[in-house]
Amino acid sequence: MATPIQLNDITIHLVVEQEGGWFDAKGFFPKLTKELLDENRSWLQPEFIDANDKLILCIQSFVIRTPQHNILIDACVGNHKHRPTRPFWNMLDSDRFEKGLAAIGLGVNDIDYVMCTHLHGDHVGWNTRLDNGRWVPTFPRARYIMSDRELAHWTQREKENPESVPWITDSVLPIVAAKREQIVKSDFAFNEQVQLVPTPGHTIDHFSVLVGRPGRDALITGDMIHSPLQGKYPDLGMMADYDSAQAGQTRRKIFDRFCDQPTQMCLSHFPAPSTGRVQRWGDGYKFVSVRG
Ligand SMILES: [Zn+2]
Repeated sequence: MATPIQLNDITIHLVVEQEGGWFDAKGFFPKLTKELLDENRSWLQPEFIDANDKLILCIQSFVIRTPQHNILIDACVGNHKHRPTRPFWNMLDSDRFEKGLAAIGLGVNDIDYVMCTHLHGDHVGWNTRLDNGRWVPTFPRARYIMSDRELAHWTQREKENPESVPWITDSVLPIVAAKREQIVKSDFAFNEQVQLVPTPGHTIDHFSVLVGRPGRDALITGDMIHSPLQGKYPDLGMMADYDSAQAGQTRRKIFDRFCDQPTQMCLSHFPAPSTGRVQRWGDGYKFVSVRG
């Protein structure tokens, strides 16, 4: 189990569902050329890309334990979800996620809030589970925090073409139907030590989550970055971006803000340890894994 991050009276746990190489690096980053990949291969391999140039990605949740609340940030892929275009996420039937929660002493009834950084299928899956053929909230006591514009965008997409966004049908709309959603602006301050930070571009109203107090804090990035390659080249867009140019501006702005600060970046899709501090690296940034 990964070492948790301790920030005074707050603990951040990593709960992993999957880690693997599923996407070809050049397809994942449409503007990544063979030359640029070759130039960076020496530091990317074998930690961040495998021998076949597949990106090594982690699918995980972050659980924030405060004295008052247990907050789950992003809900991975989930079980029994029909994902015909993603064979490695299609109809999963795994107990790894729930075992990961149990390993930190939590069950589904202990989660008070679920925060959805954005509404892509690998971040909302465990929002729901199958119960007698119906999708019901996995965390029955939780309120699910989503951005207003993000939810409106995907609800409209689902209305127009449900087959193209099955994760909205089975993992987002059932939360709304069960009246468990809490709709917020993407700069919502949950409390003094848990605040949303707008990081748009990858999706229309993506947010990251800043936890702790200045000097002892962490930023859970969500999908504002997928690979350290996008640290070195902040303008490198990924295939599913809503607005790649905006996503690049967001990376520069956020990494500039946290550069050379003690803030632990929790880099959701990076392979373990998935954390690090931001430092400048040429025209871009790198992440140095120091815990504490
Ligand atoms: Zn993702």
